[in-house]
Amino acid sequence: MLRTYSYILSLTLLTSAPSLSQIPKRLADFEVQKISEGVYAVIRKEPPGLTVNGNSVFIINEEEVVVVDSTLTPGSGREVLDELRKLTSKPVKYVVNTHWHDDHIMGNQVFRDAFPGVVFIAHANTREYLPTTGLTNRKQAMSEQGYPGFIASLKSRLQKEESVFGGPMDDEERTTYESDIRIAERYMSENPGVEIILPTVTLTDRVTLHSGSRTVEIRYLGRGHTSGDLVVHLPKERIVIVGDLVISPVPYVGSPQSHPGEWGATLEKLLALQPSIIVPGHGPVLRDDSYLKLMVRLFASIKRQVEAAVPRGETLDQVRKGVNLDEFEQAFAGNSRVRKLIFRNYVAGAAVEAAFRDANVRQ
Ligand SMILES: [Zn+2]
Repeated sequence: MLRTYSYILSLTLLTSAPSLSQIPKRLADFEVQKISEGVYAVIRKEPPGLTVNGNSVFIINEEEVVVVDSTLTPGSGREVLDELRKLTSKPVKYVVNTHWHDDHIMGNQVFRDAFPGVVFIAHANTREYLPTTGLTNRKQAMSEQGYPGFIASLKSRLQKEESVFGGPMDDEERTTYESDIRIAERYMSENPGVEIILPTVTLTDRVTLHSGSRTVEIRYLGRGHTSGDLVVHLPKERIVIVGDLVISPVPYVGSPQSHPGEWGATLEKLLALQPSIIVPGHGPVLRDDSYLKLMVRLFASIKRQVEAAVPRGETLDQVRKGVNLDEFEQAFAGNSRVRKLIFRNYVAGAAVEAAFRDANVRQ
């Protein structure tokens, strides 16, 4: 099995000699949705796949703009900035990075260059992670075993029309791989020279921005997708921008970095804010909390099953075999084979492993 990064799903695929084609010119793979007065969500339109780009949000205040997350590459960051320019000529004063993964930070430099003096806000753990583990992981993602191998595998599979599930490939799988290849090729083309911008303001609890009539609360509610997940809360508008604490239609859990045993409690705190609009890190804007509640039940079930198994002295393999998440696989993935694959890799695989590690640390 390949290593997992949050933005490359591990997948064992046949490989062949890579032949990187030119990146096709494409229209923007996102749409801008107004969700409240002066608040716009930039929602990615790529299918839920094995690698992903991230949503962004603009909060346009009386004098200036707050941007939440800057996407996976400088080019897609620039496209997001171009959309903002269509809405306002006000300067970006703050960029909030909800966590440290590349699909949320790699466009930072575009905003720094366009708005000298812009303040980058993130959790203190993000500032620590980016030049250390983050650097190592990014080098791995760019190495032959990372994105280049991933691209070659998918191209080979597409050429042979060979499904990872056995037999011929269907349209959903084909469309997913084509999108994954575009995202991965863009990563390899644009990111090797990117300057990593560290947050200039860090927090471990909360920071509140008061700007005219707008209040923007930036909060840390606990560990979940990472140990540095921030939530941007607009209390008057009852909007929460939550990064990868919420990903729909299937949550992505990174086994080395996520904390599924605590994720549910963090989501409970998010629910207590009683949001009416939830902007996830990936996936469409959510207008009620039913998906969050489903995630809470999922993580409660994982925690309960894993924590019951650990005192029995079970190994990770035994725990994996014993944990039953069928009900949740059906609820999240339905009949989609690709979504089931994501669920098995990122929830049944990664989340059980991460919960097992955390439960053993607590023992
Ligand atoms: Zn993400």
